[in-house]
Amino acid sequence: MTKALFGQMMDSPLLISNILSSAARHHAQLEIVSRRAEGDIHRYTVVDLQVRAKKLAQALERLHLDAGSRIGTLAWNGYRHLEIYYGVSGSGLVCHTINPRLFSEQIAYIIQHAEDEIIFFDQSFQSLVEGLIPLCPHVKKWICLIDPALMQSSELALDNYESFIEQESGDFEWPIFDERLASSLCYTSGTTGNPKGALYSHRSTVLHSYASSLPDSLSLSARDVILPVVPMFHVNAWGLPYSSLLVGAKLVLPGAKLDGPSIYELLESEKVTFSAGVPTIWAGLIQSMKLKNLNFSTFKRVVIGGSACPPAMMKTFQEYGVEVIHAWGMTELSPIGTVAKLKASDLSKSIHEQELIQQKQGRVIFGVDMRIVDGDLNALAQDGKAFGDLQVKGPWVIQQYFKASESALIDGWFPTGDVSNIDPDGHMQITDRSKDVIKSGGEWISSIDLENVAAGHPSVMMAACISVAHPKWDERPLLVIEKKPDVQLSNDELKADILQFFIDKVAKWWIPDDVVFVDKIPLTATGKMQKLKLREQFKNHPLPCL
Ligand code: ADP
Repeated sequence: MTKALFGQMMDSPLLISNILSSAARHHAQLEIVSRRAEGDIHRYTVVDLQVRAKKLAQALERLHLDAGSRIGTLAWNGYRHLEIYYGVSGSGLVCHTINPRLFSEQIAYIIQHAEDEIIFFDQSFQSLVEGLIPLCPHVKKWICLIDPALMQSSELALDNYESFIEQESGDFEWPIFDERLASSLCYTSGTTGNPKGALYSHRSTVLHSYASSLPDSLSLSARDVILPVVPMFHVNAWGLPYSSLLVGAKLVLPGAKLDGPSIYELLESEKVTFSAGVPTIWAGLIQSMKLKNLNFSTFKRVVIGGSACPPAMMKTFQEYGVEVIHAWGMTELSPIGTVAKLKASDLSKSIHEQELIQQKQGRVIFGVDMRIVDGDLNALAQDGKAFGDLQVKGPWVIQQYFKASESALIDGWFPTGDVSNIDPDGHMQITDRSKDVIKSGGEWISSIDLENVAAGHPSVMMAACISVAHPKWDERPLLVIEKKPDVQLSNDELKADILQFFIDKVAKWWIPDDVVFVDKIPLTATGKMQKLKLREQFKNHPLPCL
């Protein structure tokens, strides 16, 4: 064998600190705006962000933590949280974002499992933290993210973030290290079993930031004003705290106020062009805008993911002049895997056909590879008809859960737990999570398709479709509906109307056997419908035996 010939380009590691230092150097005026717990709107530039992230790095250095130590956060989207993202990862520690909406026992489990050394928290989580302290004695410091003058008294020893960093100069060089080192940690919300940790690296994060900014991905640029409604504790706000700085876009962080009117106010006052979040959050925004007959003046693109975007929501956004970018991903994918964008060959198709493509979960962004397989792991045809278990691989896809003894892969692929088809143009469509699939008489019914139809009914706020045991067909679909507040019809009338609404929209045998109404559809900690709970609640619901 002849000697390998290496390229002669610089071998600079892909580090998260480069994103910040590059933005501070080349987009020095870039603004970061936050609605903060103090009640006001805070603004500063990315240069200020870097100074304070460096002060934090210096303060942490004084604690002599081992490289790779985990630093936890229980916090909303805000500038101090952003400083922790960059200050912690930039200094070679691991930023572990914890979802405060989980049960406190789950949070305690996660903190213990991650062995977090320090926890930064928003004051709104102080009582949660006071309950956690006795359960997590290994945590050395609990540091509150608030103006010191506003610290609430506590019998427990709580530190203050501003006091923690104030003595530091900010004169600090980001260390350079191997790009494969761990940068951040997120736990899946663990709808079944204990939460599991996905440990991202600097390399995976920077590559994901590049790829997610591409035109056929989220299409981010320095002309955008980005407001991540998706929380920074939900898969790093889908990477937006990194990708917005990477492209040099202004960042608007909404804090704890995620209700429709508060989000609308920020979208307008900060001239936001781009946002991202799960469908449930947008339902609230649209509802509040309709009540007051409001419109958007600058808002142009919204990424909807985390669960399937109902076509009715896509249409409503379109009517407001906002393009919906439907994206699919998961914690184990950092999170973005596919994005529903048209190809040149789609442009000659009818508007209806184009809409159907945009309603799918989309095409892979380069870096991610995907395939569908049957139960024996045989790859299935990508003909838009065959459906099977979706598997993925790529440099920002998980290989092994944090502290797990075995690889998470099967045959080199990560099994996503989603069931999907892929058409010859590479557009992937999820029909279900494998555990949500409805099997009627041996055939599969897509709960997502049924929910999408129901969500288009004018009286429906939210719809969940679950399987219920059936003596003849094994399982049949039951539709659980949360009504809009102003509906005049009786439940019986509305049920008949909704079932009628399905006719000609899905195969006859797919139409749900019954409709039940609940005050609120329960949501998971990441704002998705909690179907497990609904299945439990309605497991004995009697269905007509046809
Ligand atoms: P969890 O909800 O368990 O915390 P994630 O937030 O990582 O986990 O969610 C990943 C799952 O969410 C995917 O496997 C898929 O089932 C679902 N999901 C994400 N995006 C979409 C989408 N656009 N359409 C349908 N399902 C989606």
